[in-house]
Amino acid sequence: MLAKLEIDIPMCQAHGRCYETAPDVLDADDNGVAVLKSDEPIDAERARAIAATCPEFAILVKEV
Ligand code: SF4
Repeated sequence: MLAKLEIDIPMCQAHGRCYETAPDVLDADDNGVAVLKSDEPIDAERARAIAATCPEFAILVKEV
């Protein structure tokens, strides 16, 4: 199963846990806020694991 990630920008506190865990999927903007590198879906289990790294619940997983 595949899923897309979505970042809830106002919720992001720029901890960096997500993009340190998955630098192939996520990057940081100049303020340290998470940004997706691609709009392509990824493995849903991995998407959930990436989302779980965020203590702010700012990463949403949408199965496609
Ligand atoms: S772990 Fe969450 S709060 Fe931290 S940079 Fe990633 S999305 Fe933002």
